Formats: sequence, structure tokens, C-alpha cells
Amino acid sequence: MYTVIVEKQCGCFKKSGHEAETSFDNKDDALLFANERKNFMNDEWCGKHNFFVEETGSDLLIKMNMAG
Ligand SMILES: [Zn+2]
Repeated sequence: MYTVIVEKQCGCFKKSGHEAETSFDNKDDALLFANERKNFMNDEWCGKHNFFVEETGSDLLIKMNMAG
């Protein structure tokens, strides 16, 4: 089981209605989902935050950098 976790949730996340954790049976699906979500968050959200994916064991964390 692989879990994609949005580690830090800014205001945009709360407004989006996304789940903070989503689990997958296989890693490819989890990776795909994590990257798509990360790209979406970077493109569609406030732009004040920069998101990136980090793998830790069976979890994929979507982490956040404050830009500027
Ligand atoms: Zn934001």
C-alpha cells in the first residue's frame, strides 16, 4: 500500500476540497497521482507556494516550500 500525503496544507488546499491522504495498491499509480497533483497545485493555486514530491518508504509526501 502506497499513500500520497499532502504534508502542509495552505489555504488553497483547504479551499480545493482535496483529501490530504490517498492510498494506492501499486506504486506506479501512487507516483503518477502524486506528480499530477503536485503539478496541478503548482499551476492552479496561489503561486506563493511551491510543491514537490518526496518519497519516504511507501509514502509519497507532497511537500511545500514558501516561495519568496
Ligand atoms: Zn497556497
